Amino acid sequence: MALERAVRAAIEWGARRYGVLPVTSVCDVRCVFCSNRQNPPGVRTYQLPPATVEETARTLELMDDPRRVVVGESVTRIDEGEPFTHPRLLDLLALARERFPRAVLQVTTNGSPLTRDRVRALAALAPVEVVLSLNSAVEDNRRRLMSDPRPQRALAAADHLAEEGVPFQGSIVAMPHLVGWDDPARAVFFLDERGAKLIRLFMPGFTRLAPSELRFPPTMWDELGRLVDELAPAVRAPLLLEPPRLRDLEARLEGVAPDSPAARAGLRRGDVIKAVGGEEVFCRFDAHASATEAGPVEVEAERPGTGRFKAVLDKQPEERPGFVAHYDVNPVRLHRAAGLLHDGPRPALVFTSRLAEDVIRLGLERVMEPEALEGVRVVAVEDAFFGGSIMAAGLAVVQDYLDALAREERAGRPAPRLVLVPWEPWDQERRDLTGRSVDEVAVAARAVIELV
Ligand code: SF4
Repeated sequence: MALERAVRAAIEWGARRYGVLPVTSVCDVRCVFCSNRQNPPGVRTYQLPPATVEETARTLELMDDPRRVVVGESVTRIDEGEPFTHPRLLDLLALARERFPRAVLQVTTNGSPLTRDRVRALAALAPVEVVLSLNSAVEDNRRRLMSDPRPQRALAAADHLAEEGVPFQGSIVAMPHLVGWDDPARAVFFLDERGAKLIRLFMPGFTRLAPSELRFPPTMWDELGRLVDELAPAVRAPLLLEPPRLRDLEARLEGVAPDSPAARAGLRRGDVIKAVGGEEVFCRFDAHASATEAGPVEVEAERPGTGRFKAVLDKQPEERPGFVAHYDVNPVRLHRAAGLLHDGPRPALVFTSRLAEDVIRLGLERVMEPEALEGVRVVAVEDAFFGGSIMAAGLAVVQDYLDALAREERAGRPAPRLVLVPWEPWDQERRDLTGRSVDEVAVAARAVIELV
C-alpha cells in the first residue's frame, strides 16, 4: 500500500510539474544503453504496469492546461517503457486530447510498434509530435544495440510518419565504439531524408556498473561534437549534440527547422540572437522563450563574418520560432538564486552539476554585482554514486552532496551558512533517487538549504 502511494505521488509530481503522462514501464526491446539497466543498488525506481483508463483520467486531471502532454518519457522514479506496448494507448491519448484540445501530444517511441495504422490514428489526434528513438538506421546495428527482433519496422515507421504528415523528431544514442562511426552519420541522414523536424544525437551515459564494452573514453564527447559540426551543414533538420558543452550564454543557434518562422526570416545555424522585440536577450533560454511568447516580432542577430542584422519572425504568440538553441540557464531561476544570495548569510555555496557549472557561474556574475558575490562559491557536485560518465544534476544523490561538503572542508574552506541546491534531483518529498532527503545535507552542513 505504501508502495502504491509512493508510485502515485511520483506520477502526480511528474504530471503537475512536467506534463508527463506515464502509461507503462513495459518495453518490447532491450537497449544496451537503457538507463533502467545500469542503476547502482539502492536506486528506487518503479516499474509501472499498463495504466488503466481511470488512472490516466486521474493523472490528466492533475495537469494544469499544459502546452504538451508527454508520453513515453521517464519522470522522477517511474521507469519509462514503450508506450505502444499498452494495448489501449490510443484510447488514453484520445482521453488526453479530449481534456486538452490544444495541447501537443508528444509520444516517444522506439518505432518498432509504429505501424501505418497507428501513425494514421496519431495523425487524427493532431497536434501530435513523435519522438522516434531510432538509434541506428542499419538493421543489424539496431538488432545489436536494441535487441530489436524486427528492426525493419522502425525504419518503415519513419516512412509512415513522413507519408502521413505527422511531425517527428529523431533521437540517436551514438554508440560508435560498438557499431562504428559511420552508423550515427547514417542514422542522421536517414532521419533527415524523411523530414525529421529535429535530430538529437546523444552521447550515451554509462554508470560505474556498466559492462566494459559500453564504456568509452571521455574524448568521445569531442569526437561527437566534431561529427555534428561536420554533418549539420549537410542536413536540413537542426542537429543537436546532447548533452552540450556550454561555456557561454550567447544565444547561438544550433539550427533552424525548415519552413519555420525562423527559416522564413533567413536565420541559420551559427547566428547569435542578440535581441527579441528590441529587448536584449540574456541567454539561449531567454531568446527562445521570448521569441516563443511573442507574436510577429523583430529579432536582432549577429552572423560570424557578416555582422548584425535584423529579421522579422512572422508567427503567432506561443508558436515555436523554429530556431533551435541548447538549454543553458533559466533566468527566472537565476534571479531567484541571486535574490537568496543577496539577502542571505555568507559564506554561501551554490551547488550545481559539472554540465551547468560554467553557465551558472557566468549567469550569477551577470545578474549580481561583484561585491554581492563575495563569499559565494559555485561548486560542481561529482556524480560519484552513479559514476561512469554521468554528470547531470538530476542524477546527483545526497551522498554526492555530502562528499562535496567534505571536500570543501578538507580544502580548508569555511563552513557555508547558506547552500543553494538545484531542484532536479529531488522528488515531491525532497528525496533523491535512493530515497534520502535533501535535509540530510542541511544537517551535515549546519546551514540553511534552499532548492532553486
Ligand atoms: S526503448 Fe527505451 S525503455 Fe525500451 S529498452 Fe530502449 S531505452 Fe529502455
